[in-house]
Amino acid sequence: MNASDVASWIRHAAELVSADADRLTRLDAAIGDGDHGLNLDRGFRAAVEALPDDAPPGKVLIAAGRAIVSKTGGASGPLYGTALRRAGKALADADAVDAAGVGLALRAALDGVQDLGKAAEGDKTMIDALAPAVAAYEAALADGSGLAACVRAAAGAAAEGAEATVPMQARKGRASYLGPRSVGHMDPGASSTALILRALADVAGEG
Ligand code: ADP
Ligand code: MG
Repeated sequence: MNASDVASWIRHAAELVSADADRLTRLDAAIGDGDHGLNLDRGFRAAVEALPDDAPPGKVLIAAGRAIVSKTGGASGPLYGTALRRAGKALADADAVDAAGVGLALRAALDGVQDLGKAAEGDKTMIDALAPAVAAYEAALADGSGLAACVRAAAGAAAEGAEATVPMQARKGRASYLGPRSVGHMDPGASSTALILRALADVAGEG
């Protein structure tokens, strides 16, 4: 992936988030405060505005992450912003990233979200989509798959991971205040993570 592929990913993620903003907000209305779609739509619009013209992939991600931190709000803003900034830092100043590099960036994003939010798998958060996505990506890479197959594996695992949050009881974030009443609803952040990784598969999953 070069800088323009990364920018295409952010733009496409913004489109998917915007198209699904009402659904994400409804999920958050069920177990949170009903702002997730709105928050993320605002954050990704800002990220698209902030995309630099002439910068390597890592710097594109850092710029997008900064914009998301400053404009998204809620718990998810700092978490997604950190994810993108850590991914960007992992890429340093390389002009192009291969499948292994994207894997390292995804792993760095996951580590960033966990350093900040302290959630583990099973807590009913975005980690329940992101962690299996990173694991699936790394497994595909270890099997010798190229970038396209790896990102498709990651997107599929994220979607399954989001579905798997439905029966979970939330142990982190606002939904945890509901205790057992958080059971039976998909976690909004896990759902948006699946969308963002779907966007990655859409732009890099051909071939
Ligand atoms: P808020 O809860 O502040 O209103 P949002 O509605 O934008 O923020 O985002 C809620 C999502 O943030 C949750 O669905 C969950 O996936 C994610 N989240 C909340 N706390 C954490 C955490 N500590 N670690 C990882 N993700 C979290
Ligand atoms: Mg909310």
